[in-house]
Amino acid sequence: MYKAFLIKYAEIGVKGKNRYLFEDALVAQIKYALKKCEGEFLVHKTQGRIYVDALTEFDYDEAVARLKRVFGISGICPVVYVEDEGFEKLCEDVIAYIGKVYPDQNRTFKVISRRARKNYPKESMELNADLGEAILNACPDMRVDVHNPDIMLHVEIREKIYIYSEIIPGPGGMPVGTGGKAMLLLSGGIDSPVAGYMIAKRGVKLDAVYFHAPPYTSERAKQKVVDLARIVSRYTGPIYLHVINFTDIQLYIYEKCPHDELTIIMRRYMMRIAETLAKQTECLGLVTGESIGQVASQTMHSLAATNEVCELPVYRPLIGFDKQEIVQVSEKIDTYETSILPFEDCCTIFVAKHPVTKPNLKVIRRHEENLNEKIEELVQTALDTDELIIVSDSGSV
Ligand code: ATP
Ligand code: MG
Repeated sequence: MYKAFLIKYAEIGVKGKNRYLFEDALVAQIKYALKKCEGEFLVHKTQGRIYVDALTEFDYDEAVARLKRVFGISGICPVVYVEDEGFEKLCEDVIAYIGKVYPDQNRTFKVISRRARKNYPKESMELNADLGEAILNACPDMRVDVHNPDIMLHVEIREKIYIYSEIIPGPGGMPVGTGGKAMLLLSGGIDSPVAGYMIAKRGVKLDAVYFHAPPYTSERAKQKVVDLARIVSRYTGPIYLHVINFTDIQLYIYEKCPHDELTIIMRRYMMRIAETLAKQTECLGLVTGESIGQVASQTMHSLAATNEVCELPVYRPLIGFDKQEIVQVSEKIDTYETSILPFEDCCTIFVAKHPVTKPNLKVIRRHEENLNEKIEELVQTALDTDELIIVSDSGSV
């Protein structure tokens, strides 16, 4: 029955020149989201509104599910459109629409018409009144309420006539791409995919980096990260995932530094490498899944130690979240089931029994000096052997 969707978006922050950037980015993200949906669609901007027209038969539930993942959309209105075959016929169509969408007619309504095509014989005020009257005559249980109606029935006169009244909530946020780009440190855990989702929701495009330590971490562990990136890419668009071989760096730190400081020093090298990649790829910041106090490497002291090595801002959208709250988001965005698959990540192998929780920066810096002989070369090799995987909803290329 539905042939199109009217896309609603929040107007705040979308004024003046930014409006076009915002709308164009939203159109691009909608096209991406619908690319693999059954059916063909035309996504277009018309008179300050964004419409998705179905050009063929399509899978309604799938289309709605996909649109619900596009940041920037505040509401999705399924639209019925009918040919303009005179006012009598329009009344019949509107009444048929109400019959189908609202089997229980004990409700109040208001007609809101819009004459986008000015050669239509009735003006919008007249249309409101005449359509309202036709509805009251046909549906005796319905009443008009112009202030707070149960149903706002929109009728828009264009080339065709659009009828809609329902609004399915969208995810909110800003269209990805309107807020620059950031480098997500993506592990196989629960937290970092959620962190990426939250930053992307504010309009930030994502690249990602995963530190892989074969043979201590398996191909399965790496595949899990690719799978997580793919789920996140349903919301963000394609993600350039850098896989960095971290084994030699990790072994070298293990050999040269006190074991209770391994995690912190390792994390500092991850941040340094991520920052180098970020700068090479025009990312404006780093993103991690850290949350205060979750583990030894995420106390305020430890965060200060990992933060110290970066010049770029490090965004930690989960910083004040409890684990349970993070799990809830990961369930909502569908990463949870993949995140809990039992493949080791590279930290677990080298984790000390009693890692420091209050690392002393001076001490850490001094112990890092033990690495002077080879670390630069190892970091360079890791960067030189970066494996780039382009991950998108339609598979990795
Ligand atoms: P997550 O659930 O995201 O793995 P975590 O609770 O396991 O987080 P840590 O292992 O301390 O926490 O990692 C903190 C953050 O550091 C992660 O959220 C992620 O952003 C980054 N990180 C950790 N390990 C890796 C890795 N192997 N590759 C890329 N990023 C990593
Ligand atoms: Mg982890």
